[in-house]
Amino acid sequence: MNLSDPSLPFWETKSLDEMTQKEWESVCDGCGLCCLTKLQDDETDEIVYTGVVCAYSDLATGQCSDYANRSTNVPTCVQLTKERVAEFDWLPDTCAYRVLYRGQSLPNWHPLISGKPQSVKAAGIGLLAIPVVVDTGNLDYEDFLISKP
Ligand code: SF4
Ligand code: SF4
Repeated sequence: MNLSDPSLPFWETKSLDEMTQKEWESVCDGCGLCCLTKLQDDETDEIVYTGVVCAYSDLATGQCSDYANRSTNVPTCVQLTKERVAEFDWLPDTCAYRVLYRGQSLPNWHPLISGKPQSVKAAGIGLLAIPVVVDTGNLDYEDFLISKP
């Protein structure tokens, strides 16, 4: 493969570090799975997922309903940056940032390839494809543990 071939899409020719901010943002497949509440074991640091989704998650789209103010609205909302992709191994295996970080190809259902955001749900991926409970602030998260999506 000729990596300088201008006919190839940017995600096949650039590393995550080399992407522009716009390209970086477009890599997100919009699955919304990173908005599920996670619990971390105090002793082992192991992170486990729950089926409880952040109250700011829009379940019609799977997107954050107030993305610009997410850090203020939810102080524990973690921002994924280029520098932190490597350490964020708790992200879903399907997360496009992790897929590219592992040197793999984006799946056919990724909107950059399919051209349709709906292809994520159609492939059975993401918040819109699994049963979730919206966080009411008074849930016992341990009652909602799920396997890593
Ligand atoms: S898990 Fe990854 S691809 Fe999915 S919404 Fe979060 S950052 Fe985007
Ligand atoms: S504030 Fe928005 S981006 Fe952060 S966890 Fe909640 S829904 Fe997701």
